[in-house]
Amino acid sequence: MRLELRNIQLIGRELAVQWSDGEESYFPLERLRRACPCASCGGEPDVLGNISRPDVAYTDASFDLTGWQLIGGYALQPRWADGHSTGLYSFQYLRRLAAPSS
Ligand SMILES: [Zn+2]
Repeated sequence: MRLELRNIQLIGRELAVQWSDGEESYFPLERLRRACPCASCGGEPDVLGNISRPDVAYTDASFDLTGWQLIGGYALQPRWADGHSTGLYSFQYLRRLAAPSS
């Protein structure tokens, strides 16, 4: 089944995503930004979900979301308050990034 994003909402400091299969994921904005998969931020979580990457300079604005775009029905492109918006988070990537539901 093709994974689609049914609904997306900014709730406080978290991005709440509802998927077409009924799952819901919550992404704290700081975690989302630190996981930015673009070339300048670099890197992806390892198999354990740990995110390690070269030093990237963040400011408070780096963890503020000003908006987002859906790209081609397969990815989310967040716009951050510090002007950064080159990260394309594919839906598969987001699902991997989502904290496992307990
Ligand atoms: Zn980035």
